[in-house]
Amino acid sequence: MKNQATIRHEVHAVGTGLHSGKLVHMTLRPAPPNTGIVFVRTDLHGAYVKASVEAIDFEMLQLATTLRNGDVVVQTTEHLLSALFSANVDNVIVEIDGPEVPIMDGSSAPFLVLLDEAGIKRQPVPAKVLKIVKPFSFEAGGKKVWVTPSGDFRVSYEIRFDHPLIQRQRKTMNVHSREYEEQVAPARTFGFLRDLDYLKSKGLIQGGSMDNAIVLDADRILNESLRLKDEFVSHKILDMIGDLAVAGVRFQGHFHGYKAGHEMHARFLRALLAAEDCYVVVQDGATLPAAFAPAGDVPVAV
Ligand SMILES: [Zn+2]
Repeated sequence: MKNQATIRHEVHAVGTGLHSGKLVHMTLRPAPPNTGIVFVRTDLHGAYVKASVEAIDFEMLQLATTLRNGDVVVQTTEHLLSALFSANVDNVIVEIDGPEVPIMDGSSAPFLVLLDEAGIKRQPVPAKVLKIVKPFSFEAGGKKVWVTPSGDFRVSYEIRFDHPLIQRQRKTMNVHSREYEEQVAPARTFGFLRDLDYLKSKGLIQGGSMDNAIVLDADRILNESLRLKDEFVSHKILDMIGDLAVAGVRFQGHFHGYKAGHEMHARFLRALLAAEDCYVVVQDGATLPAAFAPAGDVPVAV
């Protein structure tokens, strides 16, 4: 799909906020070309945050990706963004009545179901594609994220955990394909019981439970079963795709993650966009002169 796309119909979902534990109502609405993904807080009179690198809150990336526009904050954006990005949906208004996107079952599969219900509508404006032309790598503290040129949008990931059920897992996939739907979207987020108890005691993740995460103790999982044999690394790929989606363009390149997470993904993306010799932004076969300046007005019609 070379043109931009939005959704055909508005759709609704209700779910729990991971941090607040409260119910969140979410509506996805179609949006004009060049809008991007815009989160609108209906509880704050329509104040909004557009998904963009400038909006990443680098102080709040430990557990999830938080986007901020002044005082307006939207948390836990990455699973919805991952689903939208994999489906090539460039433009959509996401209305929520609280500070976070509902966690649903901890994966992006419920959002793919929602997109299926909404339908995809192609728009008469070519999509912008950031094409990697030279390898770029970002490393910190034994973690690494890098990208190499490729004919399509691929993600590879490797994780290592000192846990008998995880240890070392590696996986590679083509993002815009059925592989995402079958091998990545169902993968749930995961956490260790000792960390979850600590975070809850600090007033965080009040909505976190085995309904929306795989929970591990020292040597087993507490949930009934895994959905995928490599569900842990698959969820890392899901997260990385969602975190790259804030760039507001499509990608052509092979992205690699090694023991990384939201903070590394975000720092890598910011560094990559500043490394202008490593990529070109192409639209309809033409290279855009402004290397990275996603344009477009933000409609705030609520
Ligand atoms: Zn996640």
